[in-house]
Amino acid sequence: MPQRNEDFKITREFVHAMPKSDLHCHLDGSLRVETILELAKEEGIDLPAADVPGMREAVHAGKLCDDLVDYLKAFDITCRVLQTQSALERVAFELAEDAARENVKYLEVRYAPILHTLGGLRLDQIVQAVLDGLDRAERTYDLRTGLIICGIRNMTPETSLRIAELAVAFKNRGVVGFDLAGAEYDHPAKAHRDAFQLIRNNNINVTIHAGEAYGPESIHQAIHACGSHRIGHGTRLKESGDLLNFVADHRIPLEICLKSNIQTRAVPSLAAHPFRFYLDLGLRVTLNTDNRLITDTTVTDEYLLAAKQWSLDVDELKWIMVNGFKSGFLPFREKTLLTRRVVTEYDELVQKFRAKQNAASKKAPKAQDQPSA
Ligand SMILES: [Zn+2]
Repeated sequence: MPQRNEDFKITREFVHAMPKSDLHCHLDGSLRVETILELAKEEGIDLPAADVPGMREAVHAGKLCDDLVDYLKAFDITCRVLQTQSALERVAFELAEDAARENVKYLEVRYAPILHTLGGLRLDQIVQAVLDGLDRAERTYDLRTGLIICGIRNMTPETSLRIAELAVAFKNRGVVGFDLAGAEYDHPAKAHRDAFQLIRNNNINVTIHAGEAYGPESIHQAIHACGSHRIGHGTRLKESGDLLNFVADHRIPLEICLKSNIQTRAVPSLAAHPFRFYLDLGLRVTLNTDNRLITDTTVTDEYLLAAKQWSLDVDELKWIMVNGFKSGFLPFREKTLLTRRVVTEYDELVQKFRAKQNAASKKAPKAQDQPSA
């Protein structure tokens, strides 16, 4: 780990400006509230509320939930308005736009196409619509995107296999990985082994939600029974020292989503989150949003939360940022070039902010901008 570098102040302005990635972001959990209301009006869909504050409340944006299953209920609401190609294209574009506006340079969006068939769309139309929205964002903004297709733990293994076939069909056409999401407790990943076998036979990247609502056995299964290349959350990995070392030795990235972990009660509080422990051990930790709307967060918020809670310095932030870019499901050559580019951008930004901070401290040695969150 780098040496501590405490003379540089980590401000919201700096974190907002630094290049970032988001590897764990659900499409149906990251809509703009205004868009939900507009889509519902256009399509004559009933919602639990008719205005922005009411809808924010209904999707429990930022609120604590009883557990992961309770947290997942909000998706029933957002999915109601995501049953047409135009709605899917729009929300994919807007999500990427929101990310680009906080200087996210690499975004992996994930969703479960099976949840969008209620209006009669075919699975291939559901995937193509989201790819079209992401493609429009790439042509408009300086960011790269990828799409991860999710199977659902609490659906049948046959459904997962069908969704895995869909991911195979869209390999090299924007789909970069396969995931298993949904209720973790009582729904082991190995039940969906056939889907993962198909995915692995086709050399497709795998990431699996694990260690969020169940213990390290779930992470073990994700890695060893399903061939996961990354782990979604991994919050409870700390309970098995042996597996922890395996994950560290094999540089298996952890897609950590701090605020979401508190809301789903994967951890009792931010202070109890193992993020600092993982970071100090040299695990490949990355910071991500999970759900921009349902969790009421941004990548900037997640970095600031970590920076404030664990007094991260400018070099530690850089290390986490690099982890994110290194862990993307991009071809190696492209990933290397992108990582080099963001490192240069980060270093230049630090220089610029350092000069500003030095100038300000000469002018007013005591009244400085405090770290904000
Ligand atoms: Zn997730």
